[in-house]
Amino acid sequence: MSKHPLKFNSKTIHGGQEPDAAFGAVMPPIYQTSTYAQTTPGGHKGYEYSRSANPTRTALERSLASIENGEYGLAFASGLAAIDAVIKLLSPGDEVVSTNDLYGGSYRLFKQVFEKFGITFHFIGMGEVARIEEKINKNTKLIWVETPTNPMMNVINIKAVAALAKKHKILLAVDNTFATPYLQRPLELGADIVMHSATKYLGGHSDVVVGALVVRDKELADKLYFIQNASGAVCGPMDSFLVLRGIKTLHVRMQRHCENGEAIARYLKKHSKIEKVYWPGFEEHPNHEVAKSQMSDFGGMISFIPKGSNFKDAVKIVEKLQVFTLAESLGGVESLAGHPASMTHASIPKEEREKSGVVDSLIRLSVGIEDVDDLIADLEQAIG
Ligand SMILES: *Cc1c(COP(=O)(O)O)cnc(C)c1O
Repeated sequence: MSKHPLKFNSKTIHGGQEPDAAFGAVMPPIYQTSTYAQTTPGGHKGYEYSRSANPTRTALERSLASIENGEYGLAFASGLAAIDAVIKLLSPGDEVVSTNDLYGGSYRLFKQVFEKFGITFHFIGMGEVARIEEKINKNTKLIWVETPTNPMMNVINIKAVAALAKKHKILLAVDNTFATPYLQRPLELGADIVMHSATKYLGGHSDVVVGALVVRDKELADKLYFIQNASGAVCGPMDSFLVLRGIKTLHVRMQRHCENGEAIARYLKKHSKIEKVYWPGFEEHPNHEVAKSQMSDFGGMISFIPKGSNFKDAVKIVEKLQVFTLAESLGGVESLAGHPASMTHASIPKEEREKSGVVDSLIRLSVGIEDVDDLIADLEQAIG
């Protein structure tokens, strides 16, 4: 491999990868095996049982560490399994300060699974870092940040939160699913843990459910590896292969997601029947300066509210779309549209949801990499 440190657009293809030791296969083989022959008890070639480690998963974990500019990658059965492993670092009595406007499944895991085990979660708007400090006490062990947020596209200043976390000796974890390391690398900004739903942009083809963590600190990596192996929610070899394959085109896909996203955000903003468009690339977006400083572009996720609309009007628009598919999830090559209030965010109580702006008429788009003219024509006929 090259002696020079690779740039991002090469790391997606080569980062942490070597041709396979057995026959020189350029793409890591799918080691579809649960166990490995030993010559004598304990005499193995680094692999004993595929929950503990599998060569295809190792290849993915090294790729993940490389693209996030970290040291250690861990691949899980889903994004939520990765989050679950992070929360299992904690003990009863510990407290977590979390973004209020976050993935509905993360909220459900925190509130309905982990609160029962005596962990307390505080959900707050993180636009002003001072508000985070108000919630910190001696029991606070983790700050959970999702940025840009889902679906309101708020942007949280990772560097500022990292400084606060360091001051109080608290771990900072960042869900980097929306931005991807193409746009934003939280470890470089001072975060301790980066988390991904690799189901989304990293996989990129809506054909797999996988989660990931990346860290730099060896001790933290060891603790997370212990939980990964002890709890067992690992990523299988076939799924590891699919995400590795997806990552190889991450940079070219993201470039197009960003271009199409910008064109659609600007089209919607000019539209007479649209009330409000949420996209961090607009100069008047409240966190535009922070977005510009920590992201290299603004991504392909957009939310909007049609003028004078209610729950039913929003549902009618998403039903009329033909090129956009009405579906949960995001980050694939195909464009998707969603209605957060009845889909991704239905598990958050209405009152809680509306506090962060997720009103009944909000529509969320994951802009794909199709021809942007077709996407705009589709929106035009649906909005009418
Ligand atoms: C999808 C998603 C998750 C959960 O990941 P799964 O792979 O579905 O378990 C977490 N965070 C964000 C931002 C997501 O979009």
